[in-house]
Amino acid sequence: MKILLVEDDKLLNHHLTSLLTESDNQVYSTDRARVALHYAADYPIDVAIIDLGLPDLSGVQLISELRARRIPFPIIVLTARGNWQDKVEGLEAGADDYMVKPFQKDELLARLNALVRRSAGFISPRVKVGNYELDLSRKVLTIGSEAVVLTSFEYQILEYLMRNALQVVSKQQLLDQLYGDGEGDPNVVEVMVSRLRKKLDPEGTILPISTIRRQGYIFNISCS
Ligand code: CA
Repeated sequence: MKILLVEDDKLLNHHLTSLLTESDNQVYSTDRARVALHYAADYPIDVAIIDLGLPDLSGVQLISELRARRIPFPIIVLTARGNWQDKVEGLEAGADDYMVKPFQKDELLARLNALVRRSAGFISPRVKVGNYELDLSRKVLTIGSEAVVLTSFEYQILEYLMRNALQVVSKQQLLDQLYGDGEGDPNVVEVMVSRLRKKLDPEGTILPISTIRRQGYIFNISCS
């Protein structure tokens, strides 16, 4: 994999770079957000690891900027222990997943692999529900004729909701889509659904995803 690593803690950056390189990855590492923007534009990055506290731009600003430039590779953010607000901001800005420092190297590698696998494509071509259409191989959402860029996690959740349109889908089912093993934080699902609502329905007039109290979510539009 080609991995973009943005971490200003010199020791951790060095440690992660050797770890990832030893596991047969190519690492583009930097301690600056502005350099990361150049790498993201110039190299075919598969996945990015971004620390949220950086010296030039914040990690959150960096993620927002990458997403504003329609760069869709999956992003995993690194946060300090217990810093819940940071984690939510990172996810809201467009990250797909997060890891709390200090973390186990095996877990980081597993998460990176899972993210890249999930963003790698599907077999069947399209799912269309109402005005919303998912291209399953390019992983692009179109609303009417307009393409909307989704991150890996947003895409996974939307695909599952659309495939199960008009049925209640529990938060746990969605969590299983993202993590596979029943682990993971339900707050991630909440943030992804809230991001999807904004992307699917910026004016707030169609409300395609409803919350069913204590049960989960439902994609409220029938297949066409
Ligand atoms: Ca830092």
